Amino acid sequence: MLEQITNEAKTYTKEGKPAFYIPVLALQSVEQFAACIVDENGNYFEVGNTDELFTLQSISKVINFMVACEYHGLQFVLDKVDVEPTGDPFNSIIRLESTAPGKPFNPMINAGAITVVSMLPGKTAKDRVAYVADFLSRITGSTHQVNEAVYCSEIETTHRNRAIAHYLKANDYLLCDVEETLEAYIRLCSLEVSTKDIAKIGLMLAGNGAYPLTDEEFITRNTAKVTKALMTTCGLYNASGKYAASIGIPMKSGVSGGVLCTVSKGRVEHLEGKLGIGVFSPGIDDIGNSVAGMKFIERLSQTYDLSIF
Ligand code: GLU
Repeated sequence: MLEQITNEAKTYTKEGKPAFYIPVLALQSVEQFAACIVDENGNYFEVGNTDELFTLQSISKVINFMVACEYHGLQFVLDKVDVEPTGDPFNSIIRLESTAPGKPFNPMINAGAITVVSMLPGKTAKDRVAYVADFLSRITGSTHQVNEAVYCSEIETTHRNRAIAHYLKANDYLLCDVEETLEAYIRLCSLEVSTKDIAKIGLMLAGNGAYPLTDEEFITRNTAKVTKALMTTCGLYNASGKYAASIGIPMKSGVSGGVLCTVSKGRVEHLEGKLGIGVFSPGIDDIGNSVAGMKFIERLSQTYDLSIF
């Protein structure tokens, strides 16, 4: 059955387009497809090249949020960023100006994510990135580098994010300098991971912060629960409601075509219990979600009854 789901998903790869607004990402071939599922006993299902690296893009928002909450405590972070979905595109500016006092609505859209990055520990952008990369490495067992070509390509063209950061600064929702925050934010978007790494992060979240394979605790249970609530309500841009209805799994996508999913309890063929799922296919839709990736997860959830609802 998994093979059938995979083959069906792969027929959708060419229906998406690579992220056009980041010049280096626009060059990605949409034919790639990889998926990895890991369960609490260390069993894997893998299809495609699950070690191939791609950049985190918006999946970094989940990781940065967890790191900021662990460092400062959840309440400190939530004082600066709300937990309300917007239904607006990920890079929208409108609510920063039209609602008082301009508090970003949630950490999964760019405005909230940029505020969260300004809270990360470190004196420089590079320190902040190193701190997050180290957190990630402890979960994945891999090392994570910034893809400099993707970073350079985006930092030069990130006019909307720069505008958002200035609004945030004007409204006192940025804890450090605009340019330093932007550098860290874009570098974190450009951190490289594999589909397998993403699945492991999903497994840690399925364990509510404790990694089932080692019992090591990475984040508190409370942070894990809030993170998963945010992924469910805001993780797929302005298609989050639609996918909550049709899939019902906490997920976060990024415009490079990756999707991070976490399942607290489920059974997918020989895999059972807590599950982490990573999917990568760079063809995205107009909203920013991987077309083949979402098709795979949708069929998986429906076939194996993985929805939390
Ligand atoms: N670096 C991207 C941006 O801020 C991330 C967008 C995304 O993956 O949603 O525009």
